[in-house]
Amino acid sequence: MQVTAEGKSGNRTATKFIRKVAGMEFAAAVRNGNRVVAPLFVIAALVLVSAPRTSAGRNPGSGHTDPQSGKVELLHVQGDVYMIAGAGANITVQVGEEFVIVVDAGLPEKSQEVLAAIRSVTDKHILYVIDTSADEDHVGGNGNISQAGWALPNTSRNPVVSDEEKFHVQTGASIIAHINVLNRMSAPTGKVPLFPEALWPTDIYDNRYWRLYNGEGVYIYHPSRAHTDGDSYVFFRRSDVISTGDIFTLASYPVIKAGQGGSVNGLIDALNQIIELLEPKANEEGGTYVIPGHGPICDRHDIVEYRDMVTIIRGRIQYYIKQGMTLDAIEAARPTLDYDGLYGATTGPWTTGMFIEAVYRELSSGNTQQEQKAGAGR
Ligand SMILES: [Zn+2]
Repeated sequence: MQVTAEGKSGNRTATKFIRKVAGMEFAAAVRNGNRVVAPLFVIAALVLVSAPRTSAGRNPGSGHTDPQSGKVELLHVQGDVYMIAGAGANITVQVGEEFVIVVDAGLPEKSQEVLAAIRSVTDKHILYVIDTSADEDHVGGNGNISQAGWALPNTSRNPVVSDEEKFHVQTGASIIAHINVLNRMSAPTGKVPLFPEALWPTDIYDNRYWRLYNGEGVYIYHPSRAHTDGDSYVFFRRSDVISTGDIFTLASYPVIKAGQGGSVNGLIDALNQIIELLEPKANEEGGTYVIPGHGPICDRHDIVEYRDMVTIIRGRIQYYIKQGMTLDAIEAARPTLDYDGLYGATTGPWTTGMFIEAVYRELSSGNTQQEQKAGAGR
């Protein structure tokens, strides 16, 4: 174990500093071993392709600070994996032997900076964009990032029509997501969809996982219910990095979108599934790195702490419910008090009150056991 002056305590300080500035300023405070590869500014000479505004506008309830003021930066995480911060949700980039995989696409207005960041480390084709949920700050850039890439033949984006076309790649990287993401972003014929069709997933899966290979195994896992019912998290096996989407985010208390199938019990299950995949190097530091939906690069220690936090608060609210307390009384009892400094918010899209209410409603709904079972599969 190596805890130096820049080791454990330094990391913690850095983490707090980053959190304080809403996850936007990484330059001076990246975690140990992660260097800033390419600070990027808007390049005036860039020809801006149209960045379609979605009909949804800013995603209400996504629980995150406005990233407009953020600077797009690319950080090397480990192995073949990089993280791009400052473009909405964190974006994960894997540069493999053959091509590039991008997890989450960020906001559309940041796409040109995101593409410039990717091009600063590779000129390989982007073949896949993976969406971890249907939140706008995760999928808003789908169209732009996809259009900058290419689709392999025999994918939904590029179906094989005849033998002659067999080996032709076509513009537009495939967009992979769980089927519930497509259902949420699209709409039945005649209805107005939440997002324009150019942003919709092109390749969907509806079971527990999808696997890709790009110089290493890339496993996409779907926990049945967590932040929503369409979440995916992505494990890059050899690089030893996991990109979690909003199952794990340091920007707020976990955003449980009950209206979209989200569940606090399912979220804790999903965090436990992810933790099982993590291998700490020594004393819980280093080893597998975790890219959260929002916030700085983390390791096993951080996500275990987060899982414990959610579990402890759930336990307190469960206890209060058993005491017969109302939601108002539970809120007044401040079940989150000791964590509010890190995750609490009284204003914005995802307040502490909204988190407490989501947990309260789920635990007092009476369907908890069944839901928990449904969410425990992997
Ligand atoms: Zn998010």
